[in-house]
Amino acid sequence: MKLYKVLAVVLNSREMRDAHRVITLFSKERGKIQVVAHGVTKPTSRKRGAVQPFAVSEFMLRQGRDLDSVSQCEGIEFFPGLWTDLDKLLYAGHMAELVDALTVEGDPNEAVFIHIIKTLRELDKTVDPELVTRWFELRLMALLGYLPYLNGCVDCGGELNGPMVRFSTQAGGLICFNCAAGEEYITCNRGTVAIMHTLLSWEIDKIDRLRVARSSRAQMSTIMHEYLQWHMEKRSRSLQFMDKLNCFNPVIK
Ligand SMILES: [Zn+2]
Repeated sequence: MKLYKVLAVVLNSREMRDAHRVITLFSKERGKIQVVAHGVTKPTSRKRGAVQPFAVSEFMLRQGRDLDSVSQCEGIEFFPGLWTDLDKLLYAGHMAELVDALTVEGDPNEAVFIHIIKTLRELDKTVDPELVTRWFELRLMALLGYLPYLNGCVDCGGELNGPMVRFSTQAGGLICFNCAAGEEYITCNRGTVAIMHTLLSWEIDKIDRLRVARSSRAQMSTIMHEYLQWHMEKRSRSLQFMDKLNCFNPVIK
């Protein structure tokens, strides 16, 4: 059986029978991969640390008929700050869930891999995990080609006037008064949009300097939550559709 090596971050890990675990990795070389780690829940297993969620580890993987399995692994970077702060742990879990839901297996994307690691490093030490998470979400959307349009009306291209603007998830960005007729939208301050632009243009190490009002945080949270949810559901619907197609049209070999 063929062996291959990857550098990867562990997105999640779920228990199977006999102390085995199915682990979802996001690797530098191959993108998302699901693998089996045998016997890792045993207290004596030396692989335990390297396969725990959010660890960055080097894996030697063995190709299998269904799932590949972990032959050897070594933890390289851990983020202990995440495990001593429940908020940070929840944000890290949310981040991993997004990557898992919005990427497909075997589609390498080194920029996403680097983005995850940068975010974990910052989450580990930040005093503002919420803002780091918003930075992560916006940039992940940009890297995956789902960035909402924030420079005018997404439908007609017109300028947006007034202190309040409208965001439409279905339209994919900001929307003007006329185009908003009949659409569902979220109203937010222009200042909130300015913060989103800043998050998109600033590097992560400057984020702690940003002061954001509670109202803008709440608006960003609502917008991103709704927007991400919509994309995740859309993806999961299209995957279900593909599954159905595959069932009716078996692959001809
Ligand atoms: Zn418009």
